[in-house]
Formats: sequence, structure tokens, C-alpha cells
Amino acid sequence: MFNNLSEKLDKALHVLKGHGSITEVNVAETLKEVRRALLDADVNFKIAKEFTNRVKEKALGANVLTTLQPGQLMVKIVKDELTELMGGDATGINLSGAPTVILMSGLQGSGKTTFSGKLANFLKSKKTKKPLLVACDVYRPAAVDQLHVVGDQIKVDVYSDKGNTDPVAIAQAGIAHAKENGHNVVIIDTAGRLAVDEAMMTEISNIHTAIQPQETLFVVDSMTGQDAVNTAKAFNDVLNFDGVILTKLDGDTRGGAAISIKSVVNKPIKFIGTGEKMEAIDIFYPSRMADRILG
Ligand code: GDP
Repeated sequence: MFNNLSEKLDKALHVLKGHGSITEVNVAETLKEVRRALLDADVNFKIAKEFTNRVKEKALGANVLTTLQPGQLMVKIVKDELTELMGGDATGINLSGAPTVILMSGLQGSGKTTFSGKLANFLKSKKTKKPLLVACDVYRPAAVDQLHVVGDQIKVDVYSDKGNTDPVAIAQAGIAHAKENGHNVVIIDTAGRLAVDEAMMTEISNIHTAIQPQETLFVVDSMTGQDAVNTAKAFNDVLNFDGVILTKLDGDTRGGAAISIKSVVNKPIKFIGTGEKMEAIDIFYPSRMADRILG
């Protein structure tokens, strides 16, 4: 995860640590390298620039040049800022409501169906939760089948209605089914498209308005870099979602999405997907991720 970025940041900060006497020039050079590393990781230019400006301000404020271990202090400042950029504290999901309704949104292929299963499995492991998965993709029968396969695998019930072409009605019937059958969490998987389009946005917005979920989660493939950030913005404008799920962080992602998304949509990353298996789900902890990036 983020090997390239880690390496580059390590190198950038190493230069500073290696110098006998630290000067303003070294600090400036280091920050330039840090910014370059962020840009290479696909972090938006403005975010990278603001980031290094904040680090610089903090470094000056802490009189980095006169401290005993300026290199270590710089690493700490960069780490703190990176944590802040990715969201500060970890944020859980809202499990209020009877049942709790969780609406999944995102493009086709982002990992919605897989994550719906992972989340159901995760909640089921907390003994008090009995989730129900609801299949609301009325365009791709294969997507409904896929959710059933996932449900069978984790032993979680799936509600679907293949003849029905109204996703709002299916979502509502799914919630009613949950109430009748003692499910206290309903996870609604919806149809995505390959790119943001109006019909998809209208549909997900209609479902959202009709069912008033406790949690609306936006799922995005971290491998799509800056596009991930643009898609997040488009969905957030329509849904004002509660949190982001960043999938495929096990792949060769450059990390830009993880670092930029919070500051663009101002919504926390709540979970990450780290593989295709149902167990490959982690709560997102910004500070742990910053530790990982900075080695
Ligand atoms: P959906 O169209 O949004 O429902 O996406 P799917 O859940 O069908 O996922 C699309 C593809 O991505 C599938 O092949 C999944 O196995 C894969 N996938 C989903 N999440 C992850 C992940 O965290 N890591 C990896 N490596 N693959 C994933």
C-alpha cells in the first residue's frame, strides 16, 4: 500500500536528517520534495501546496531550526498534518434506527456489492446485529445474483425482487421485510453506472429521499486517483453522504484518493477494502494510515 509514496517521503525527509546543520534552505528543499512526492501520488496540486504551506508554518512556529533533532520534529509535523488531511480521528457508522438503514452508492465496478457483503459480515460478527442485504440493481440481473452469492457465502439473508423495475419500491419492501423478520440492519446495494450520469443520480437521490437512511455511504475505487475525488464530489453534491469507503487499497494505488478525498468533500473515510475476500475490510484510522505512509 502506497509503497512509492512512502519511499519518496522517506527520501525527502532523509535529506533533512542527513545534514549536519539544518538551514532554511534544507527545510525549503525538503518541503519541495514532500510536495513532489504528493503530486506523484496523484494528490491534487492545490491540496499538496496547501499541505506543504501548513507544514512550513508549523515548522517555523516550532522553531525547527533551533531544536536538537530537527529531522525528527519535521517528520512529526508532516505526520500530524497528513493525519489531519485524511480526517483526524476515526469515525464510526451510525447504527441508530430500528432497523438501521445503510444506503450504498457509487459507480459500477467500484466495489459496492463486495463491500455490502463485507459490511454485513463485519456487523454480523458483532453478535447483536442481524443484517439484511437488499438488491436494488434493476438493470443487471447478474448484480442481483452476485449479491445472493455473497449473502450465501457469509450466511446473511438477501432480499430481491427480480421482476420489479422500481428500485425505490424494492428498497421500501426490503426495509419492510427486515422489520417483519427481525433484521436490525438493512444494507441497500444500488445500481451504479460506468461514469456519473443524470439518470443514476436521479435514481439514487429518489431512493435516498424515500427511505431516509441513517447512513449513506459512497464507495470508490482508490485506483482511480483524481477521478475518485471528482466522482466523490459529484455524489456528495446530490446525496450529501455520510462517509466514504475506499476500496482496492491492496492494489498498486498511488494513494492520492485516500489523501485528498476528505479535504475535497469534507466527509470522513470510514472503511477501506483491502482485497476481494469478505474479511478484507478495515476501519479507516487516519493516524495509522499516516504512520504507514511515513514508515
Ligand atoms: P460494484 O459494481 O460496485 O458492485 O462492484 P463489485 O463489488 O462487483 O466489485 C468489482 C470488482 O472489484 C470485483 O471483481 C471485486 O472482487 C473487486 N473488488 C472489490 N473490492 C475490492 C478490494 O478491496 N480489493 C480488490 N483487490 N478487489 C476488490
